[in-house]
Amino acid sequence: MNRREFIVSSLAATAGVALGRRAWAQQPPAASPFVFTPLRRDVGIFTGRGGTIGWLAGKDALAVVDTQFPDTAVVCLKGIPGIAGRTIDATINTHHHLDHTGGNGVFRAASKALVAHANVPKLQFEAAKRAEQGAKVDPAAAVAAQVYADTTFPDVWRRELGSEIVTAEFRGPAHTGGDAAVHFEKANVVHMGDLVFNRMYPYVDRPGGASIRGWIKALEDSAAAYPEDALFVFGHGNPRFGVTGKRSDLLVMRDFLGAALEHVQGEIAAGHDKPAVVALENMPGFPDFHAPLPNRLGMVLGAAFDELTAPKA
Ligand SMILES: [Zn+2]
Repeated sequence: MNRREFIVSSLAATAGVALGRRAWAQQPPAASPFVFTPLRRDVGIFTGRGGTIGWLAGKDALAVVDTQFPDTAVVCLKGIPGIAGRTIDATINTHHHLDHTGGNGVFRAASKALVAHANVPKLQFEAAKRAEQGAKVDPAAAVAAQVYADTTFPDVWRRELGSEIVTAEFRGPAHTGGDAAVHFEKANVVHMGDLVFNRMYPYVDRPGGASIRGWIKALEDSAAAYPEDALFVFGHGNPRFGVTGKRSDLLVMRDFLGAALEHVQGEIAAGHDKPAVVALENMPGFPDFHAPLPNRLGMVLGAAFDELTAPKA
């Protein structure tokens, strides 16, 4: 296996998801939404739909980080190199969001353990209950569809898995109230979950326990915690920049969040109300950032406004 991206087209066709068979056959491989990318040692990533999945595929151990959605999880589960007939030692959720936990049922059935920070099951349950506000999903069905971690940790979860050492670490409220970064020590790869949206306006989940001030600290602590030459994996990325990168990319994310907080602080000091603050469409100084959804910057600024004006606990 070399470092070039490769496509498991037969598996995607078998799964019959996301693209019809005919559409799939007409697509050149580069257009496939299902891509397995080896990174370092036995660690790689799968991109399909939703948050980037990380995998460890060693001769002596298997691990998975995040699970996307049921359909793409099936594709990923079949395509991880050397996985046929084996049990995954640990599947780890970086946080509770549906595009990272929706495939938990698929991976749970193939894993010895499903691991997450201690806050994740509760946040996942509450988010499913709130699905009724979206009006598209029956909340009872959303709640019933959740598959929760069976192994949780308050601060750090660390295991030797074969010849690899895997550490999941919580650094306080950030993108949600239960984010973990997962380090494959020997491979020197760190899956950051949604602590980094690589040059994208991020989602700040205040109902799910987010804190922009905490997020800035979590990124600084993460940048200090891992080796200089660590390779980082991000939950989401601007297509121009991708979903892997370096320590400096963590600090770009930190700088953006810091600039957003500072900007909103200035607006509040100038007496501007929330509707005026959230009307900004592009953040000055961050031309590389793009909005995955309309008014995504406004949502970030609104969250900053709420955080800065919330009564002190
Ligand atoms: Zn997320």
